Amino acid sequence: MLIHLKKDATPADVEEVIRRLGSQGKPKDEVRVMHGDSYVLGVLHDASKINDDLLKEMGCVENVVRISHKWKVLSREIHPETSVVEIPKYGSRFGQGLTLVLGPCAVESYEQLLETAKIARDAGAHALRGGAFKPRTSPQDFQGLEERGLEYLAKVRDAVGLPIVTEIMEIGHIDLFRQYDVDIYQVGARNCQNFNLLKALAKQVNRPIIFKRGNGVTLDEFLNAANYIYSGSNGGTGNHNLVLCERGDKTFEREHRNVLNINNINYLAQHTHLPVIADPSHAGGKQRYVAGLARAAIAAGAHGLLVEIHYDPEHARCDGAHSLNREQTMQFVKEMKAVYAAVNE
Ligand code: PEP
Ligand code: MN
Repeated sequence: MLIHLKKDATPADVEEVIRRLGSQGKPKDEVRVMHGDSYVLGVLHDASKINDDLLKEMGCVENVVRISHKWKVLSREIHPETSVVEIPKYGSRFGQGLTLVLGPCAVESYEQLLETAKIARDAGAHALRGGAFKPRTSPQDFQGLEERGLEYLAKVRDAVGLPIVTEIMEIGHIDLFRQYDVDIYQVGARNCQNFNLLKALAKQVNRPIIFKRGNGVTLDEFLNAANYIYSGSNGGTGNHNLVLCERGDKTFEREHRNVLNINNINYLAQHTHLPVIADPSHAGGKQRYVAGLARAAIAAGAHGLLVEIHYDPEHARCDGAHSLNREQTMQFVKEMKAVYAAVNE
């Protein structure tokens, strides 16, 4: 519920409205006060017991609007400005300017990660990605180096000075991720609705989380799932350091891998205050499609890109077909900065 106050409303009026909400059972810590042209009070969680008419009859109240989404804490109506998610130690930010997360699909060896990380650093990346635990379609495919992958990520982080992003697949790995001081946790498409994992991340992790939309998961389902992390459940506090990631849906088309859902990027950037990034790599599935999709994502409102790169894509153990090499990465970043500036500045 949003309560818009009249333009001439005073801080004393705000207090009075909060008192009135309190007398209807709504505690003060569930009311957010925003002040732009005028005061707007956002009532969090369940507002079903509040009587709109009792509020509307107050002289200072302009109008009362009910928001039906259960994920309204993620909506711009509650929080008009884009939230900025920071990794303070490295000065990296999501939600302010174009944020680039670059790196290989999987950590394959120390040398492979280091050589690829140097490309990421030289291109101006804000974070280095690399999968240590890989969710692969076939058990015969490379599953990742697991703990050794985390070890290399931590070492290479020190060598290039970039925070590291890696995918968490199960609750039991949280302690391990903490041990290697993983800066940003990624929840992959396959775990988008693994609610037990999301609950555990809300409760146990305060590091930023890149949260990917699952294949075929609707916007409403995606944002409700995101809210498991953001708000927590059963009265828990949650983790507000959340970045949404659109990575496309599988369709009957086999030319590319997934159909990047530009509609979703457009919607998420307009309706939620969370930073939104796009993964054009897994959508395109081939090097030649990555830049086109990235351009479209930025034009639709994306605040950043997660892109797979490799120092030697032809010999990558995973996703070499869409991984950009050094030269392609440099060209890509230069172009995307220009596109971002054209769209946003
Ligand atoms: C990845 O980014 O490494 C990945 C596995 O992507 P997705 O979860 O989108 O399939
Ligand atoms: Mn990949």
